[in-house]
Amino acid sequence: MSYRILDGRRVAETRLQRLRQELERWSGAEGHRRPFLAVILVGDHPASASYVRAKRRAAAEVGIDSETIHLPLDISEEELLGHIHRLNADAAVDGILVQLPLPEHINPDRVIAALDPAKDVDGFHPINVGRLVLGQPGFRPCTPAGIVELLRAYDIELSGRRVVILGRSHIVGLPLANLLLQRGMDATVTVCHSRTPNLAEITRTAEVLVVAIGRPRFVTAEMVCPGAVVIDVGINRLSDPTHPRGYVLVGDVDFEAVAPRTSAITPVPGGVGPMTIAMLLENTLHAAQRLYYPSAQLSNQPATTKAPLASAAAPSP
Ligand code: NDP
Repeated sequence: MSYRILDGRRVAETRLQRLRQELERWSGAEGHRRPFLAVILVGDHPASASYVRAKRRAAAEVGIDSETIHLPLDISEEELLGHIHRLNADAAVDGILVQLPLPEHINPDRVIAALDPAKDVDGFHPINVGRLVLGQPGFRPCTPAGIVELLRAYDIELSGRRVVILGRSHIVGLPLANLLLQRGMDATVTVCHSRTPNLAEITRTAEVLVVAIGRPRFVTAEMVCPGAVVIDVGINRLSDPTHPRGYVLVGDVDFEAVAPRTSAITPVPGGVGPMTIAMLLENTLHAAQRLYYPSAQLSNQPATTKAPLASAAAPSP
């Protein structure tokens, strides 16, 4: 069967070009400055550090200023919350992103709940989650929003389709299910997790299968209905001494075996990942525009005059 590659890199690039133009118009208008994104990175986890670098690089390319607040692995929860309170109160900061995962001794729920929902560009704050569930305007989590926009860019219909999602994390599976159930999206959604028996029986019913479990090449050809659309969210590093980096990135789907059975599939890398970044930057513009929280304080101070907020460790590149 011939299949289409859902090229997230290309779709994201088109969206970023549009965003760049929108930002030029917005930032050039009287009383506006360039949006400012603060990124909190705790520790030196290589994958997290590289995601943060990619997000900041893309932000700079479209005209969003950003800063990494790079904190040591042993920072206390109280100290981390102190940084968040300071960023919440800083009117020159439009968006705040806390790069996950956090170290074990820090409760991510408390940290996310401490964010000002009007600056929560990842869409993880309980208020934004509640707004999503209720179908009210708010920041949508970037990966699920990116998946929806990628499908839209390829005119893949979701209304009335059977969608199976593997994974129920707060970052991907659960918010994606909520997005797809919205009126107007109208998918019929099944969410599976590690306690779901007979997984393959369920995945084979999917017209659209989304996999976000963090298990390299877990989904095999037998688990996929012929002609299905497969969205592979997984990003797994497998060590590979023959590769110059010492590792390769693979998804949660066995691409080589599964792709010929599908009508369309995302590659890893170059599928969902770039879309996630594009959505983050769109959210950051919306934060600066106070799109969802119109009464939030608006600052006209140039962000670049701010004193650096990082205290402890060296900032990341
Ligand atoms: P989590 O570890 O938070 O959640 C994994 C989910 O998968 C859980 O719901 C878990 O079930 C379920 N699961 C685990 N093993 C199985 C199994 N054998 N069968 C069925 N379900 C299973 O992961 P994330 O959602 O944060 O991330 C998932 C993947 O997506 C990772 O590879 C991550 O790197 C990638 N990712 C990619 C992004 C991108 O931009 N492309 C963005 C975010 C994540 P249970 O709840 O029962 O434990």
